Amino acid sequence: MFRVTTISKHVLALNTRHACSSCVHGQDKGQCSSKIPKEKPKKYSCKSYSLKDVVENGLCMGCGLCVSLANDGAVDNEKFLEMRVVPPGRYRPIFLKHRKDPLNGHLVPVVPNESLILKVCPGINVDVPGKNSHTADSSRNSEEVKSGNKEHYSVKGYVESTGEFLGPTRSVRKCYASDPDVRFRAAAAGGITALSEYLLSSKQVDFIHHVRANEQEPMLSVIQKSTCKSELLKGSQSRYGPAAPLECILQILQEKRTFAFVGKPCDINGLKNLAKFHPDVDKYVKFTMTISCGMIPDQSMYLDWLKENRIRKEDLVEFRYRGNGCPGASPYAKYTTEGDFYALMQEYPF
Ligand SMILES: Cc1cc2nc3c(=O)[nH]c(=O)nc-3n(C[C@H](O)[C@H](O)[C@H](O)COP(=O)(O)OP(=O)(O)OC[C@H]3O[C@@H](n4cnc5c(N)ncnc54)[C@H](O)[C@@H]3O)c2cc1C
Ligand code: SF4
Repeated sequence: MFRVTTISKHVLALNTRHACSSCVHGQDKGQCSSKIPKEKPKKYSCKSYSLKDVVENGLCMGCGLCVSLANDGAVDNEKFLEMRVVPPGRYRPIFLKHRKDPLNGHLVPVVPNESLILKVCPGINVDVPGKNSHTADSSRNSEEVKSGNKEHYSVKGYVESTGEFLGPTRSVRKCYASDPDVRFRAAAAGGITALSEYLLSSKQVDFIHHVRANEQEPMLSVIQKSTCKSELLKGSQSRYGPAAPLECILQILQEKRTFAFVGKPCDINGLKNLAKFHPDVDKYVKFTMTISCGMIPDQSMYLDWLKENRIRKEDLVEFRYRGNGCPGASPYAKYTTEGDFYALMQEYPF
């Protein structure tokens, strides 16, 4: 038997009650700053902080880049770092090996390549392209730059502008995937999936590096290297939960194949930081595409939703945070009970 139920009560309320903006204050404490007991702030000098300090101070975005760098080149696939879900439901790097500090006997995490990691981690290295030059495009002449906004000569509605908040903007367009399958399955009309498909069919890249649901644990995400439309469709949707697309980026670059990278803005920031130190990034990553991202909600918010609807996480067969008709259900859970399949979906609240 297969039964689908739609409910439309207020996920919006759920969102505001539980959503975490991943701000510095609440991270890794599971609570907002107003509830965190005031501690004397630790002092860090530029030279003294470690990756552990980054994570413990709530600056980690969960991208996975440090895991890739720390485990790179380890003998016998030895692992030093691993991404794991920590309360209240975020991916964070976990330190697997420790050594004793000879000075005080404390255990200190062993993190190969730590100084490079600290230079590229997007939690502490945010670059603002064009901030000093005021434009990303050095070909623009000074008149264009002075005028601020300029309609492009060839395309109606094309505007170039430079804003302090968003940085240089080449163009703002409205679009949607013309393929109805893509539009139905995707998060917000399928622009990213359609562009990904175009890059593959026009042979501009060998594959698209993005994420999709983990088949064993559908609320989590795994890296997906798509080479065709059906693979792309597995990833199309917004995954408002733990996803670490840079978790094995060095290992993927070693394949020496070209690709387009899809990720959250912080993931792309990490990749661009890495490009300054690793020539293979610019050589093999031909395109980067990102979603507009207001926050990464904690998994606990969706676990509460399951609980309220008496669905066991272990019974999930599929979990979509969004999609299946634009804007579609948000969320959508398919689960099995005593051999029967059921689906529960919440109407998109906005
Ligand atoms: C964490 C998060 C926060 C968001 N916040 C906002 C917001 O504040 N306001 C708003 O209007 N929209 C928000 N969105 C939705 C987002 O803007 C749309 O997903 C985007 O417009 C792309 O739509 P699309 O139909 O082109 O994507 P699709 O064609 O469905 O493609 C989406 C692509 O993004 C990849 N992806 C999905 N989730 C993740 C993830 N967690 N990490 C890395 N890659 C991922 C998929 O693999 C896929 O390739 C958010 C999405 C996410 C995942
Ligand atoms: S590199 Fe990414 S996963 Fe590692 S600490 Fe920085 S933000 Fe977190």
